[in-house]
Amino acid sequence: MSISHFEPTNLGLSVLVEATRLLAEERPLADRLHQLFGVLRLAIRFRDARLTFWPGSARPGALRQQFYSPDGWPYPWDDALTRQVALNGLIEQRTIVVSNELVAEPQLPITQATYLGAPIFWSGRLWGVFELRADYTNGLTSVTQEIIAALTPQLAATIARESAGLPALPGIAGTAETPTGLTLPPQQRHELASLDSRLEQMLDLHALLSLLLRRALEITGAEAGAVCLVDQRSDELVLQIYEGAPSMLDRVQPRQRWGWNQGLAGQAASSGRALLVRDVTQEPRISLTGSGVRAELAAPIVIKGRAAAVILLGSPRSAAFGEHELSFMRALCERAIHPLSRALQYQDALESSNHLGQVFTSLPTGLALLDTNGRVLRSNPAWFDMWGLSGRQRSPFHVSIDLVEQLLPRLQDPLQMTEFCASGQRSPNQPLQLSVRLVNPIQELHILSLPTHDSQEQITGRLWAVSDVTRERESDRLKSEFVSIVSHELRTPLTSILGYTELLLNRQFGDDERRQFINTVYVEAERLSQLVEDLLGVSRLEAGTVKLNRWTISLRQIVNELTTQLNTQLARHRMQIQMNRELPPIYADRDKIKQIIFNLLTNAIKYSPNGGEIVLALKLLSSAELPAGHPEGQWIQVSVSDQGIGIAPEDLPRIWERFYRVDNTNTRRIGGTGLGLSITRALVELHDGRIWAESVFGKGSTFSFTLPVSRENGRLEG
Ligand code: ADP
Repeated sequence: MSISHFEPTNLGLSVLVEATRLLAEERPLADRLHQLFGVLRLAIRFRDARLTFWPGSARPGALRQQFYSPDGWPYPWDDALTRQVALNGLIEQRTIVVSNELVAEPQLPITQATYLGAPIFWSGRLWGVFELRADYTNGLTSVTQEIIAALTPQLAATIARESAGLPALPGIAGTAETPTGLTLPPQQRHELASLDSRLEQMLDLHALLSLLLRRALEITGAEAGAVCLVDQRSDELVLQIYEGAPSMLDRVQPRQRWGWNQGLAGQAASSGRALLVRDVTQEPRISLTGSGVRAELAAPIVIKGRAAAVILLGSPRSAAFGEHELSFMRALCERAIHPLSRALQYQDALESSNHLGQVFTSLPTGLALLDTNGRVLRSNPAWFDMWGLSGRQRSPFHVSIDLVEQLLPRLQDPLQMTEFCASGQRSPNQPLQLSVRLVNPIQELHILSLPTHDSQEQITGRLWAVSDVTRERESDRLKSEFVSIVSHELRTPLTSILGYTELLLNRQFGDDERRQFINTVYVEAERLSQLVEDLLGVSRLEAGTVKLNRWTISLRQIVNELTTQLNTQLARHRMQIQMNRELPPIYADRDKIKQIIFNLLTNAIKYSPNGGEIVLALKLLSSAELPAGHPEGQWIQVSVSDQGIGIAPEDLPRIWERFYRVDNTNTRRIGGTGLGLSITRALVELHDGRIWAESVFGKGSTFSFTLPVSRENGRLEG
């Protein structure tokens, strides 16, 4: 037979004639079907085809036979579809996705295909299912459906003939021993043997369980099935995968848990034996799988005397499972013991390495595993961040060579680092640690270097854990500075107070002298109280408990009060006030604004010990005059300028820090806590304003800040 015998116009008809003739021949069924698939190819562009039938039973679920077209696709067939076609009894054509993820062959790309499944119905009876798969782009045409539908009676007749002669078919009659001592038909034995090599290759737990379930469903003809793993800690069954007719899985949820001994699966797990229930409606306590289930079969996979998994099968046909299915399932579970225990171990190892990997990558500490030569084998993202290097470094990367070289411009003491790497190699067993100081920007890193070992206790290298301790060191510095400043600031006024009061108590003085002494005591006590006030202010601001009591207030009034208050301190200075007559009122907390201006004015006085002019200027800013990045709106700028000692450019950005004091002979003589400006800035910012300083060292400074104009112009606080 060749294509040239057929007229293209009635190709379909000619194919049918040829197919009918073929199927009627007296030859082994496999031969006839193979030829049939070949003939069909002349009219239908399919990739592969298969015929499934259940000899001796009208319903799917009995032992079945399957015949495949030669040169088929390596993608496995989806038995769930076959069952669906059989149960629905209708031709089904649809687009499907095929993949070979379960097959231990080179991976093929996941692709779309067209599927056609036709039930073989004849005289009210289902004989089998005929299926085709075609490339998605070459989708099957309606002619295909016509041809397949027309073939149905021939196929039914062929299957009927085949089933009648079944006892004589080689392979079905004999029996053989299974590892459990039960008998298994040779065909199933063959199935199991071919399964063995695939099971042996499988490490992936999910793929292994899927393969086991597929095989169990295929061979037993069950309409639905599931595999549970036993959670050894809680003695519960945890559902891993399930497959089959939805009506039988309606009570099943992914990751569902069942108690030990609960349901047939639980009983199989706790007893370690494969169990069978022919009709669950007679034993309602048992069913777990779904409302449509009549027969159930549960078979445990027992590893070292304990069930590790259970395969559970269900069917809507009562008595769907018998001794054959039970012994097949026992044999299947027996075969699955080694692959499953290996896959479980692999899964465990995978999970713990996954957990460790996640911890390793997400830790904020820079971690690097080094070999014995100091070469980085593995590092986490924080490692390169910590050194301020990009993660894309050349490989191999040696700490003693590459790290030191790249950090050279920033290392304050490169030799110390080189020596640290060398001593790690000299004494590989010693835990070591080092604090490294980097500059530009300033950074303090702490390196902990610990020896690492393999399972034989052999040294494999070192683990470096690097953490940034800049802030800790800074806060240590701040703390000690705080203690020394505060103790000095406390001791100085206290010494004077004690000295003068002692003098006053023990000796008689003239009125003037006495007044002078008492005045000094008063001034020093005032200084003490200011210090205590500042410290309290800082802690309140830090705790966020400072609340503003805002009103519409006049700055003019505040300025007047302040200048009167400061008059006595202004002996050597000239004070000039520049203020527009029409200065609008502001919306602010009166006491806090007074404190801000007071702080700036006292600093101006303090830091211009030789006197000079102090200018307090207030003006309404036009929007063009607002500093860059300043919030929009109406703002008043208050500036305090002096002609004092000034601030060097490198100190200027730091004067706002708590306890920061410019350290030079002048400032040391002047005294202070370094708290005033940090409090002042926090108070300005509470009012949404900004504060900044300009200074020329040795010439003088100007401190300016902004305050919001009140929107309720004119209504002043009483
Ligand atoms: P204190 O004055 O108590 O030291 P501040 O926080 O008010 O603390 O000021 C921080 C530092 O800023 C001061 O130690 C001083 O070095 C510098 N400073 C502040 N105001 C002036 C100024 N008007 N002129 C020069 N230096 C100033």
